[in-house]
Amino acid sequence: MDIIDLHCDVLEKLTRLEAVDFQNDNRLHANLNYLQAGKVKVQVFAIFIHPNVPQKEKFLEAARQIEAFHTKVLSKSEMVHITDWRQLDELKEGEIGAVLSLEGCDCIGEDIGKLQHLIDAGVKIVGLTWNEENTVAYGTSEAPSKGLKPFAHEVIQLLNQHDILLDVAHLNEQGFYEVLPLAKHIIASHCNARSICDHPRNLTDEQIKALVQNGGRIHVVFYPPFIEPAKETTTINELLKHIQHLTSLVGVESIGFGSDFDGMDPLAIEKLSNASEYQNLINALLNTYSIEEVQMMASKGFRNYVMGIGKREK
Ligand SMILES: [Zn+2]
Repeated sequence: MDIIDLHCDVLEKLTRLEAVDFQNDNRLHANLNYLQAGKVKVQVFAIFIHPNVPQKEKFLEAARQIEAFHTKVLSKSEMVHITDWRQLDELKEGEIGAVLSLEGCDCIGEDIGKLQHLIDAGVKIVGLTWNEENTVAYGTSEAPSKGLKPFAHEVIQLLNQHDILLDVAHLNEQGFYEVLPLAKHIIASHCNARSICDHPRNLTDEQIKALVQNGGRIHVVFYPPFIEPAKETTTINELLKHIQHLTSLVGVESIGFGSDFDGMDPLAIEKLSNASEYQNLINALLNTYSIEEVQMMASKGFRNYVMGIGKREK
């Protein structure tokens, strides 16, 4: 069954590891061979800049990751750069769609022009923060009560203008609630349910319901500490507890996957440790859900969501 995955950190590794080949390097958990084996039809590639990178070098680092996206990912004939969501319906047999996202606005500083450059380069999904504070907002490692900064309004306006999805993964609680009425398109690209695993990176039931009521979606993440408290390894069954809770809360239409492959090693779910094992999750879901329901979570829900983009106003 085809998969749409909303989060991986391949680009960061492509710029950091020596002599890395996107085709089959097994240091990459979402390399091309693995994506093909796992039937991943669309993969979102995050631009993630480690907080240790000095501020004045962050935008250059973003540019390096976009360069790696072109020279190492899109250079493979199977990979198709998705710059318009309508391309999702035009992918041919054997082709894999590749989408750029930005995991945190740190690299733009207070320069809205830099965000415009990233949108021009094809970024379709933008998170305001990673875990820490930046010029826009506060991340999940900061106090939950701190709200958006004034610059956030300029950022959200630009995202709305270009129909960019605003990603609330990593955003703190107050920021989350302030974003809901402002952003045209909202998703949580890689988050689980806090009522099942109490971690600040997971969303409360109240947040999940508010997200979906505002037209948004939640995509579950495979990072073990967000599945079971303080676990370095876990099982597909434990992930299913989150999915079952979410489906009972908001329905299969609003749920998807955002693995976080290449953002969590050496931690991993057993039998779901890289993209090649994706169908193990699908098979486990088929024990509980109908094929139509699993398809909805695997790809169709997100596909339907982005095809409705022109109809959402704010
Ligand atoms: Zn992340």
